Amino acid sequence: MNVLWLFAHPEHRSLNAALRDDGIRALRAAGHEVRQSDLYAMGFKAVLDADDYADEQARGDAGRLLVGDAQEDAWRAGTVRPDIAAEHEKLAWADALIVHFPLWWFGPPAILKGWFDRVLVQGLASKVKDAEGTTRRYGDGGLAGKRAMVVTSVGAREASFGTRGIHGHIDEVLWPLHHGTFFYTGMAPLPPFVVYGADRLTREAYPQVASGLAERLRGLWTTTPLPYRPERGGDYDEELALRPELAAGERGLSIHSAEPDDAPAHPPTSPHTHSPHTRPRVGRPSDSPGSGDRGAGLRAEGAAVRAG
Ligand SMILES: Cc1cc2nc3c(=O)[nH]c(=O)nc-3n(C[C@H](O)[C@H](O)[C@H](O)COP(=O)(O)OP(=O)(O)OC[C@H]3O[C@@H](n4cnc5c(N)ncnc54)[C@H](O)[C@@H]3O)c2cc1C
Repeated sequence: MNVLWLFAHPEHRSLNAALRDDGIRALRAAGHEVRQSDLYAMGFKAVLDADDYADEQARGDAGRLLVGDAQEDAWRAGTVRPDIAAEHEKLAWADALIVHFPLWWFGPPAILKGWFDRVLVQGLASKVKDAEGTTRRYGDGGLAGKRAMVVTSVGAREASFGTRGIHGHIDEVLWPLHHGTFFYTGMAPLPPFVVYGADRLTREAYPQVASGLAERLRGLWTTTPLPYRPERGGDYDEELALRPELAAGERGLSIHSAEPDDAPAHPPTSPHTHSPHTRPRVGRPSDSPGSGDRGAGLRAEGAAVRAG
């Protein structure tokens, strides 16, 4: 299988760089092809701006830049900037994407956010239409068939990103990537690999973390994806609101993960319902705190590695 390792850390002697190196070694040892986008090392331009689309802007509405349309025009014409085109080529090649970064201010470093803004262009990753002209997204889309997994490290301890943690649950912190980016574009989001308390990690504890990552990478093709509800699986109404009989009385992000007993309320509205995220889904883990914990299924397979 082909794996694209997308890496965002400015220091090549960092904890994350060591994990990246060991992770790539583990994948290659298992016979996989790996390519890398080391964004800082590449000097990747982080900001989507008018310079990216100078030609398309000139053709637009009295010189006004319409960002999405300019992206799509350039992508269809094959005139996207060379650095973006190079990433498109790697993305097309990849069966799986590892998105690896230290958590900074509850999200990825700006250079990685910039990769999403600049590389996941309209037409390729958003506003992708099927033959009937319906938009393909959330469980289907331009990147359908690929798998994606976050590898990240956080300064905070595990409990503080847990069910009652002050920072909010890690699944919800990573929601913009898992649901808003991977699942939206059709990729199957895998449970993340998270190193907690990273700033206090000792050299002695490192091998255990690296072997935890290698273990997760061995399961890259077999791990059950996060059980998000596909847009056209029958669970959402015409306004894209979850049907009232599903997760009745509940609110929050976890209602968008299907429970094992959630029978499809309505027949699927499209043929694009064969993604690996559709039922059957992961069951409730045995250590689930209770029946009201709808996020438990998501968390069952997430890796948790603590600082020693
Ligand atoms: C701008 C910013 C915003 C942040 N926001 C958040 C946030 O919102 N939430 C949060 O929880 N945290 C936050 N943090 C903390 C951040 O997530 C951690 O600092 C980061 O995850 C640590 O990863 P690193 O690769 O930079 O570690 P490094 O600083 O490189 O290393 C961390 C520790 O690992 C040790 N180590 C063990 N083995 C190795 C090895 N083989 N190679 C190298 N080092 C090793 C190092 O000695 C060091 O003690 C933020 C930090 C910054 C700078």
